[in-house]
Amino acid sequence: MRSILATVALGVTLGAAALTPAGAQQDFSKVEIKTIKLSGAIYMLTGEGGNIGVSAGADGVYLIDDQYAPLSEKIQAALKTISDKPVKYVVNTHWHGDHTGGNENFGKAGAAIIAHEAVRARLEKGGEISLFKMTVPPAPAGALPVITFSDNMTLHLNGETARVMHMSPGHTDGDAIIHWPGANIIHTGDAFVNGFFPFVDKSSGGKLDGLIKTAETVLALSNENTKIIPGHGPLAAKADLARFHAMLLAVRERVGAAKAAGKTAEQWAASKPFADLEAEWGDGFLKTEMFTTAIFDAI
Ligand SMILES: [Zn+2]
Repeated sequence: MRSILATVALGVTLGAAALTPAGAQQDFSKVEIKTIKLSGAIYMLTGEGGNIGVSAGADGVYLIDDQYAPLSEKIQAALKTISDKPVKYVVNTHWHGDHTGGNENFGKAGAAIIAHEAVRARLEKGGEISLFKMTVPPAPAGALPVITFSDNMTLHLNGETARVMHMSPGHTDGDAIIHWPGANIIHTGDAFVNGFFPFVDKSSGGKLDGLIKTAETVLALSNENTKIIPGHGPLAAKADLARFHAMLLAVRERVGAAKAAGKTAEQWAASKPFADLEAEWGDGFLKTEMFTTAIFDAI
């Protein structure tokens, strides 16, 4: 958790993560990349930024997300302890910089970047992340996905089928999840963050309804043994996602009731509508107060 609580120049405590272009102001020297083995071929790497999924085997290595550019060497070093084969592909779960910052480095090292077409479009153009009044400059050409999809695609590598599926606009409009049905593992990107309030990035096409739908999709693909790699936070089980889903439903219901009653944003915030949820969800990427304001505006 500490990793995504860095303080940014904006003066608010938030995930420097999604919001600092290539992590420009951050010091990555102390970041340690940790490797967790999830199955014969699949691993989860944590460091700073979004959790990385790894498939390593006879066909080579591919990654799900690649954190920040300054961490690419450390990530490569961690991968070397898993496999001596090069990274062939990187799949981006969405366009935010804490998940795509390493694209250019991995691309230069020979990987083909894969993402939903909306991810490429947003990286290419750059844009505003309005909640944080942050402008993301256009990504360099070498960081852009060279293989894009509009709906689903499948990777057949390392003896596993990996289904890459575009979800309803939730965290952003380019959200994809990756499902390895054989290994019973799912990487959700930031559509699910384990243990804290989500960020519905309205300026990137995100919608709370979409996040709820994605949670339902992943729940339907899961059983008690499923390992879920969330965008941020520790490795999760189905029960963790079920709690997240229930929280999202409560949030939607309360915002809806307040809007139906004609409450203003100020009245809404003053009512402290998520006081009961704060202990469980409020100590993450978005503090309760900021989430309260943001979600009212996002719906
Ligand atoms: Zn994100």
